[in-house]
Amino acid sequence: DIGKNIVGVVLQCNNYEVIDLGVMVPPQKILDTAREVGADLIGLSGLITPSLDEMVTVAGEMARQGFEIPLLIGGATTSRAHTAVKVAPRYQHPVIWVKDASRSVPVASRLLGEGKAALLAEVQADYDALRERHAAKHDRPLISLAEARRRAPELDLAAVAPGPRMLGVQVLADYDLAELRDFIDWTPFFASWEMKGRFPDILNNPASGEAARKLFEDAQAMLDRIIAERWLTARGVFGLWPAHADGDDIVVHTEAGEVRLPQLRQQGEHRDGVPNKALSDFVAPGHAGVVDHVGAFAVTAGLGGADRIKAFKDNLDDYSAILLEALADRLAEAFAERLHQRVRTEFWGYAEAEDLDNDALIKEQYSGIRPAPGYPACPEHTNKTVIWDLLDVQAQTGIELTESMAMWPGASVSGLYLGHPDAQYFVVGRVDRDQVNDYAERKGWDVPTAERWLAPNLAYNPDD
Ligand code: SAH
Repeated sequence: DIGKNIVGVVLQCNNYEVIDLGVMVPPQKILDTAREVGADLIGLSGLITPSLDEMVTVAGEMARQGFEIPLLIGGATTSRAHTAVKVAPRYQHPVIWVKDASRSVPVASRLLGEGKAALLAEVQADYDALRERHAAKHDRPLISLAEARRRAPELDLAAVAPGPRMLGVQVLADYDLAELRDFIDWTPFFASWEMKGRFPDILNNPASGEAARKLFEDAQAMLDRIIAERWLTARGVFGLWPAHADGDDIVVHTEAGEVRLPQLRQQGEHRDGVPNKALSDFVAPGHAGVVDHVGAFAVTAGLGGADRIKAFKDNLDDYSAILLEALADRLAEAFAERLHQRVRTEFWGYAEAEDLDNDALIKEQYSGIRPAPGYPACPEHTNKTVIWDLLDVQAQTGIELTESMAMWPGASVSGLYLGHPDAQYFVVGRVDRDQVNDYAERKGWDVPTAERWLAPNLAYNPDD
């Protein structure tokens, strides 16, 4: 959303008229509005993987409804490859991936001016090459799910984290923003403004240091006001429970009974005996005779932000609106970092003696992980609904899940806690039919539903 706002601002600064329809807009509303206003271009922004599929739908609908105007694709989860392979083939008119906001002006001006033919030829050649490369990569066979399970890593049962000091659910109703401020990771803040480089070095970059310092000063000044004037409220909830692994499922033992979090396993052929992982591999299996535990959490720092962001926009102060949104995001991530630290050192307490500064926390030099549904080790988003049920997230924090599994407010983070020292992030990657069928059964879904939620990871085309 921040990137989309910046695109709007830079295009407007270059005399384009921009109609921003907001977030989670139904495809037909986008198309109807484009017709109504006689738009020259349509741009779509995708934040999480379900929006990728939505973009394919929009492209298909543009073709079906006889559109001819170019379609621009951008946003955090989009890529040149996805645009070339999945979106562009659905619409015979230009479909162009725009890498970042600063590219939106040159792309728009070429599309609407003299450079159009040359741009389209460049893009066509580029996308053809990408499609070929993609096809070659996808020819590489996967191993069967059964074989992948045989190649699962073995868990060191002696290293399973001791039982937590606190079991069950705890709510953090109004978390101190002043405390969270010290846990902010500033590098992604600058990246969201398209300033690349590591913090704090970025402040001293000979070329862009001055702009970075100005932005950082403005951020500090706004943070002072956010905290002093209580512009934002941070709320969180987390839980810790006994758990075991059953096949590729993580099974959580709550007071109300067992709750399953089905996981996905890598099916790529690894060399050198590298195992085929699933997150369930980092939890002790039920038959191991060891009592293991897992946790779950959801935190937000975005409550109260929407009204103020709107007020800034109504006041034509886009800069402050975007700055506030970016800072709310940073505070939410800082909250996730701080809460994870407190879980390790206090609430679960398996790392009581841990003593890491913010830099070491950002580098994840601690034991255990907090995998987030929708990210590469657990790319399927609906496990968020399981977390929402486990923690009663909506009632306890106000964070809602949209139909496409986005969190609202956007400045929110959720995930699981795994405490085993060998637990690590990895990429599930492509999954084959055998795993999709198996996953559908474990989820209680029909296969098309599984294929829809797993679309970004499917190793095959379900329409074939
Ligand atoms: N310091 C960063 C932290 C967020 S990114 C910031 O402030 O923005 C790192 C987080 O993304 C991890 O804590 C985890 O929740 C998630 N993550 C990263 N890689 C992942 C993977 N492969 N699978 C699941 N979750 C992942």
